Amino acid sequence: MRLTIFISTILVATLLLGFRHLTNPVTITGHLKKNPKDSSAFVDRVLVFVKGDNKILAKVLTDEKGDFELTFTPKKEKSFDFFCTGLGIDTLLIASVTTFESDTPEMTFYIPGQVKRNAFGKVLCPICKRTDMVYKIQYGDAPIMTRHISKTGDTTYSPIYKGTYQESCIVGLAKFFCDRDKAKF
Ligand SMILES: [Zn+2]
Repeated sequence: MRLTIFISTILVATLLLGFRHLTNPVTITGHLKKNPKDSSAFVDRVLVFVKGDNKILAKVLTDEKGDFELTFTPKKEKSFDFFCTGLGIDTLLIASVTTFESDTPEMTFYIPGQVKRNAFGKVLCPICKRTDMVYKIQYGDAPIMTRHISKTGDTTYSPIYKGTYQESCIVGLAKFFCDRDKAKF
């Protein structure tokens, strides 16, 4: 009898937890801070948004201190990618996570985001966690476009030239670009 109660308690708990995991909204108390290595960015009145499977799940403007609250209901997204955009800020990837530690996590983001490197010093993309399609962004007056002509004669232009991503004259905060995720960070 006691064993039956014990087992059913576990079953109920598992069901409840599983259910909770799928349906509960997540409310993030977020703080957007300047990256000490590049403090040129503004953190107030910046649009922060989170994407999952390439859909915008929620967006919000930061207050004058760079604080914000973001609520959305995760489903089975592969990852949750945080971006921001604002005055003088191109759409910038600031973080990517696969899970949240609770339903009400407190998270600090840096703008521009903190760059992680692998053991060989290569920059890791925050989304795919790989280095092979990450390019350093080169800012210059005349961006060099590389022309690709396919077998069928179609011409396409790519901003990737000699292993760097060529950006136009406005100097942005993004330092790197992942061609797999089409994200600047
Ligand atoms: Zn990537």
